[in-house]
Amino acid sequence: MKIHAYEVRNDEIPYFNQMKEKLGVEITLSPECLSMENLESTKGYDAVTTIGHSQMTKEVMKGLSENGVKAYATRCIGYNHIDLEAAKQYGVRVCNATYGPNGVADYTLMLILLCLRSYKQALWRRHVNDFSLTGLQGREMKDLVVGVIGTGRIGEAVIKNLSGFGCRILAYDVYQKESVKGYGDYVSLEKLYEESDIITLHAPLQDSTYRMINEDSIKRMKDGVVLINCARGELMDIDALIKGIEEEKIGALGMDVFENEEGIYHHDRKTDILSNRNMAYLQQFKNVVMTQHMAFYTDAAVKSMVIMALEGIVSMVDGKECSTLLV
Ligand code: NAD
Repeated sequence: MKIHAYEVRNDEIPYFNQMKEKLGVEITLSPECLSMENLESTKGYDAVTTIGHSQMTKEVMKGLSENGVKAYATRCIGYNHIDLEAAKQYGVRVCNATYGPNGVADYTLMLILLCLRSYKQALWRRHVNDFSLTGLQGREMKDLVVGVIGTGRIGEAVIKNLSGFGCRILAYDVYQKESVKGYGDYVSLEKLYEESDIITLHAPLQDSTYRMINEDSIKRMKDGVVLINCARGELMDIDALIKGIEEEKIGALGMDVFENEEGIYHHDRKTDILSNRNMAYLQQFKNVVMTQHMAFYTDAAVKSMVIMALEGIVSMVDGKECSTLLV
């Protein structure tokens, strides 16, 4: 079986090599994204794999099918970059890759604490030997209410992490889980917005969640609310966030993801002119912490992403059951 892997980072290579031996497959590794421009390079392969920066559009799916590619695996959990309908239409089987929720859950707690303790400013000051305390007073978790939106794998792990801090936990999800109920209270979205001091997002990007944090929802939140997004940038309306920060309605913002981050995050762009104005504007605020979509990025997660994508491909091409099959 021949597999072409795109968007390959150096830290993935040892796992690709291990799996090549284990599964007895041939794998070609390429650092670039897959697009219409290099679709020719998929000819002669049974399957391809990318991460989330390659846009798997209808055109690309059609091209893959024409080139004889039978299966595609994304080496990440999210799959909003894939046209699944087109994959079905052109007969390309698709799977994703999962990994433990702990890396993202730990990172979420880090962003919450960075925001609560004004750590961005503290760090800036230390660089210029400003050791003053003015404006750096924080708040204690035990006194706060944390609202968790989306109690799937990551949301639930966040709730378990939070349970050690003594805060009150409110949760909202379209499906309620018994395993979460011992740690916090499921409430309506309305109540969560109204009563939470900190709100953290762990819902997937879909029509019902697109820009769920907008001018209207922010208006319903507490003054000084801390918003955390380790899910997808598109869950938030950036103009509404900017307004909320400028009017000091939002006390702090921690974002590991950003709308239109593709082509910027995970690349070294320090000598380039960037055109994402909202990203540049938002990140200059003292109380906005932004990172480059790295919450997932741990040794355990990377290993799992490569292994699961390749195991998924082998199952799909061999026509066997695949636990992470999407279509
Ligand atoms: P999951 O599928 O286990 O959980 C998602 C939960 O959201 C489910 O319980 C689902 O019922 C709930 N949900 C769906 N629609 C909702 C709505 N309208 N309102 C509230 N809840 C809703 O997924 P997960 O593994 O917990 O991941 C959650 C999200 O985190 C992913 O979709 C992905 O976008 C993001 N993510 C980010 C990173 C990162 O590095 N920053 C890494 C992994 C995942």
